[in-house]
Amino acid sequence: MRVSALLMPTLREIPAEAEVISHKLLVKAGMIRKTATGVYTYLPLGWRVIRKIMHIIREEMDSSGGQEILMPIIQAAELWQESGRWDVYGAELFRLQDRHGRNFCLGPTHEEIITDLVRREVNSYKQLPLLLYQIQCKFRDERRPRFGLMRGREFVMKDLYSFDRDEAGLKISYAKMYEAYNKIFSRCGLKFRPVEADSGAIGGSTTHEFMVLANSGEAEIVYCTECDYAANVERAENTINNNKVNDAIKPRELLYTPGVKTIEQLVQFTKRTAESMIKTLFYEADGNLICVLVRGDREVNEIKLQNTIGCLELKLAEDEIIEKTTGALPGYVGPIGIKGVKVYADEEVQFVVNGIVGANKADYHYININYGRDFTADKIVDIRLVKSGDACPKCQAEMKSARGIEVGQVFQLGTKYSKSLGATYVDEQGQEYPLVMGCYGIGVSRTMAAAIEQNYDEQGIIWPLAIAPFHVIVIPVNIKDEGLMNLANQIYFDLQKAGVEVVIDDRDERAGVKFADADLVGYPYRITVGKKTLSQQTVDLKHRATGQEEIVELGSIVKRMQELVK
Ligand code: ATP
Ligand code: MG
Repeated sequence: MRVSALLMPTLREIPAEAEVISHKLLVKAGMIRKTATGVYTYLPLGWRVIRKIMHIIREEMDSSGGQEILMPIIQAAELWQESGRWDVYGAELFRLQDRHGRNFCLGPTHEEIITDLVRREVNSYKQLPLLLYQIQCKFRDERRPRFGLMRGREFVMKDLYSFDRDEAGLKISYAKMYEAYNKIFSRCGLKFRPVEADSGAIGGSTTHEFMVLANSGEAEIVYCTECDYAANVERAENTINNNKVNDAIKPRELLYTPGVKTIEQLVQFTKRTAESMIKTLFYEADGNLICVLVRGDREVNEIKLQNTIGCLELKLAEDEIIEKTTGALPGYVGPIGIKGVKVYADEEVQFVVNGIVGANKADYHYININYGRDFTADKIVDIRLVKSGDACPKCQAEMKSARGIEVGQVFQLGTKYSKSLGATYVDEQGQEYPLVMGCYGIGVSRTMAAAIEQNYDEQGIIWPLAIAPFHVIVIPVNIKDEGLMNLANQIYFDLQKAGVEVVIDDRDERAGVKFADADLVGYPYRITVGKKTLSQQTVDLKHRATGQEEIVELGSIVKRMQELVK
């Protein structure tokens, strides 16, 4: 490819709306352009990266027994009504009508379509296991589309669905996919980690997310410093640290705390630790008011809370409702004496000795409160967020936290969709059973962005070799010098012939401009053809990732590049 002919509109300025580095660099390097919020066109270089990731995915899916298909983007509402998701998927579903007023949606995921296909076409145990996948654009009207390709409203996804006769079969398919995902992200050159994840309010089944480790990641994970335990904080289990303080139980007192509302202020004011305080929060769970207690140094894990209650919608209650129920506003509310509200306390709350809570009276707190004597909960559960420093639930060693970008998720669905849609098979005895399903997604376009979040510097992108748009760029420093241009062209042709993916920057630009663009785009290697090439028959070969420069003889540059990209 000749850069003079390449549609690669690099920019000097970064668009103001771009918050994360992948978004900034993808736009700046002329790889993507926005057409609407969360909707992008992939330009030639960007699309080459996507195609490379898709190629790696296809190889690994095929070698794991997957068969590629392509399902429609437009899905009929009837199928979603059958599965029960038409009403619960909510505003994220792009809905539309045809000219006859029939309802459709743009596929955010394809469980309904594939289960419909399989219920028609598969009926015998002999056809199992069956692994079908596709790579396609998905549509989700995200609440907050942002960060460029990281959270789009239209994005490229690979989705595979497995069909087995029983749980044991599902476990095998799941293990295959788990393994394939490890291979895919390793081959993409990414630092990642599979973590245990939450399966949502309705599920209860096993699921893992594949997280690319990057500070800009929206997800927080914890991992053990000793064993292999790693989990999304939404899911991570806690161990009860029951180092109960052995202080003598003191009588409860009312304390005047004017203007002291937050835990921080309370720590300052009372000179006691946040661990000795109890945070009281009120939520509305599917419209019902509930009270939630966690220790002062803890945060509520809303996912766990939602799973505990089994509700679909959970949100913090409005101040007026809290005031009506407790007689006070947030900052002064507490569990003592409240009525008609179910109380959920985190496990640690019961071990707080002589603690502090709001007194349900403006400007007052209670001190020296104790679980059992002063208040109780309807349910004691693990509803706190794990944090760095907590003990590993598997081996008790210390856990650390990190941020991650979810690039893939594998999920044991079980019979959720096969039962609602009636997808069954008959076994050797002619007995009919529902198919046991798994689903496995990879965000292809998000993976491209995640690769940049992990690999960049001041100058631009540093593509891992396996997913770089091209392996190498040849830069003749002066295209007006005929002898030099001839040599550069010769190298370009020879590399092409040798199977190295190469571009030549044949633009009439200053060498500095070409170098800057090459660094911005992030080609793993750069060959400079300059004066020395003519006088000494050598070229400069620069490694983008390390900055290392080699002087290579003209006669060996092809061989050297072949070695490097092998
Ligand atoms: P998230 O929690 O980030 O919204 P999700 O769990 O809803 O994602 P899945 O349904 O598991 O997403 O989809 C499979 C994969 O598709 C995800 O692991 C992610 O890599 C990718 N993906 C999901 N939503 C988006 C999006 N809005 N933009 C780009 N990629 C996405
Ligand atoms: Mg997911």
